[in-house]
Amino acid sequence: MDADAIVIGSGQAGVPLAARLAGAGKRTILVERSRLGGTCVNYGCTPTKTMVASARAAHVARTAGRLGVQAGAVRIDFPAIVARKDAIVRRWQDGVRKRISGAGERLQLVEGHARFVSANEIEVGSQRYRAGLIVIDVGVRPAVPEVEGLGGLPWLDNRRVMELSAVPRHLVVLGGGYIGCEFAQMFRRFGAEVTVVQRGPHLLDREDPDVSEPLEGVFRAEGIKVVTERKVLRASARGSGIAISLDDGPEVEGSHLLVAAGRRPNTDDLGCDRGGIELDEKGFVRVDDQYRTSAKGVYAVGDVTGGPQFTHTSWDDHRILYDILAGRPVRSRAGRVIPYVVFTDPQVAGVGINEREARKRGLRHEVARMEFGSIARAIETDETDGVLKLILDPESERILGANVVGVEAGELIHVFAALMQAGATARALVDVEIAHPTFAEGLQSVAMQLPRYALR
Ligand SMILES: Cc1cc2nc3c(=O)[nH]c(=O)nc-3n(C[C@H](O)[C@H](O)[C@H](O)COP(=O)(O)OP(=O)(O)OC[C@H]3O[C@@H](n4cnc5c(N)ncnc54)[C@H](O)[C@@H]3O)c2cc1C
Repeated sequence: MDADAIVIGSGQAGVPLAARLAGAGKRTILVERSRLGGTCVNYGCTPTKTMVASARAAHVARTAGRLGVQAGAVRIDFPAIVARKDAIVRRWQDGVRKRISGAGERLQLVEGHARFVSANEIEVGSQRYRAGLIVIDVGVRPAVPEVEGLGGLPWLDNRRVMELSAVPRHLVVLGGGYIGCEFAQMFRRFGAEVTVVQRGPHLLDREDPDVSEPLEGVFRAEGIKVVTERKVLRASARGSGIAISLDDGPEVEGSHLLVAAGRRPNTDDLGCDRGGIELDEKGFVRVDDQYRTSAKGVYAVGDVTGGPQFTHTSWDDHRILYDILAGRPVRSRAGRVIPYVVFTDPQVAGVGINEREARKRGLRHEVARMEFGSIARAIETDETDGVLKLILDPESERILGANVVGVEAGELIHVFAALMQAGATARALVDVEIAHPTFAEGLQSVAMQLPRYALR
């Protein structure tokens, strides 16, 4: 069957791209092998952040005493938390379905696994589809680390952990990246014992150490055991639970094991060799700044391109690619300002480069740093954990990057992102009048830690 365009994968880029191509009059086929909406809606952002909200409510209720409020004993109704999560996920799934049906008959949904037969032809089951334009948006899935014995155990990944019907007695989390950290704190606040085992010296090890440290302090204060600089050698069954042996130190025993040790691309069963689509050494699709793969007429977007793996990045990919395909490119894949947020409490947010990266690249830079707890609003609300960091280009005074660790850091970071996108200098932040008392006052105060912006 012939079409004008084929989109493989109904993720954050795939659905809007397919719907817009169909809306522009192109006969478009969207192929999905699993649940509509991809990772974010079904197994990623939506369910996790819904459950993180319940976990935070439990924490606020438990610690209300610090504000002089006695809230009584907190009881976790886990089935109700899961039901709320499922209802919100269903709402998003319905939205995706409506977006597809609303695109009209030019958009055809094909359910099944797509494989390339050649650069302009795929097969789904016994059916073949051809198009001059094919866009790959197949995403990534959990990587399985090489740990002896893991194969024989009922370990959990980000998907299976959200299908639990009861709070685990002791959750052992293998991996201290953002997925591991969000689940660790969530389940701790639901009442589980939690141990996080991290190979590197810090949680969230892409961050500067002084950005990870406030979170580690909070984790430990909440009773999460954080084991760093340990490699997991073996996993085995122990009673009704699991045990993992490390390269040093005692075994870690728990009732459940969550593996959150990276993500790998869904390209191993996509037939890329037959399509002439080049992959990098880790299996990600190689694309240029215009999302072109090595095969003519084949593009790739989203997590599978190996760039920052975020919903907003995948969605932005669709916008940029759509404009490129429409012959009116405004932006390209390169050089974008990409913020990110880890939805722990305190949240850990960043944009641009950090201090380590600035050093590594040999860039001239100035660093401003301030404790989140010196913001008036942080003191008033007793939300003092965290830090603010700003990396400045001393010549242009432009912001090279920023980190905010603190309550609502995910909202605050966008002030820096907007300034960076606009090419503004940090002086704009110093000169603007900021309402008191807000957390945003900290953004100005951190800039004013730099001698050039200090009050004289
Ligand atoms: C636990 C967790 C929490 C997360 N939290 C956040 C967050 O808070 N914020 C954020 O920005 N990001 C978050 N993410 C990341 C975010 O979910 C992804 O970056 C985003 O979903 C990527 O979208 P995508 O379009 O690239 O791919 P996906 O959404 O993964 O979609 C790919 C689709 O392709 C389908 N597919 C794969 N192979 C084939 C094939 N051969 N044929 C047909 N269909 C195929 C898959 O079934 C899938 O539906 C989280 C991820 C996880 C796992």
